[in-house]
Amino acid sequence: MPELPEVETVRKGLQDRLDLFRIEGIQVFRESAIASPGGSKEFKKNLRGTYVGNWERRGKYLIASLYKSESPSIPQSSKQKKIHGWWVVHLRMTGQFQWHEQLIAPCPYTRVSFWTQKGYELRFVDIRSFGQMWWIPANSSPKKIINGLRNLGPEPFSEEFNASYLQHRIKGKKRPIKSVLLDQTVVAGIGNIYADESLFSAGILPTKSSGHLSKQEIEYLCHSIVKVLKISIGKGGTTFSDFRDLEGINGKYGGQAWVYRRGDKPCRKCGTKIQREKLSGRSTHWCPTCQN
Ligand SMILES: [Zn+2]
Repeated sequence: MPELPEVETVRKGLQDRLDLFRIEGIQVFRESAIASPGGSKEFKKNLRGTYVGNWERRGKYLIASLYKSESPSIPQSSKQKKIHGWWVVHLRMTGQFQWHEQLIAPCPYTRVSFWTQKGYELRFVDIRSFGQMWWIPANSSPKKIINGLRNLGPEPFSEEFNASYLQHRIKGKKRPIKSVLLDQTVVAGIGNIYADESLFSAGILPTKSSGHLSKQEIEYLCHSIVKVLKISIGKGGTTFSDFRDLEGINGKYGGQAWVYRRGDKPCRKCGTKIQREKLSGRSTHWCPTCQN
């Protein structure tokens, strides 16, 4: 599943490719891909003829500002225009965007296609079909319509996310620290890969009761989360799963992984065999020597 670094990589790709992209045509191949009220009918009606402005990321959500212009000419600056609404996307398990400058027949997993005035296509492909997109009108807000966005915890790179905050959130809690990191209401954007990698980096066992972490461990953990996510963003996301950026390129983080998907292999730090076990239904990897 794409996590914060992969979604951030997709965001950058969309920002580069879709700068002042005018949506001339939309085709929805699978109705369930559109999660906003009114389904594909409202989605198509409201997105057609709009320009795509800035793309932002919040947790694993991608949010584009949309602007309307009566004339087909490109507005000088999207900032000068009144916002028409937002286009929000969650890739979930396998959602990905593809950019096609040549006409190519849709693959069986094509869920939604967007066309520019030049006939270029932005294609949303999703094998597992859990990916979702929303149209949000300007008189509302993405947070009002999308529960997952409203309940999101702070971004790991924000000032709000620090050791005092995390300590407050886990105080007295028995829940394993790994499960806490996967909880999007505690911190936004972390999934299985970066939870395991951050816990290794901080030297903390994934199964440890979160309430038993010392202040120093919490500080290490906050620092490790930011460090691991930044490294992965620099590598364009992960090689794991089906992740691809807009140009069809896999990230490069996998080669650097310390524990994730390295079960039974020797720890890169100490040589001990990496352990792999399910924890709250998610495969979890750790080094029994380096983490305690
Ligand atoms: Zn080790």
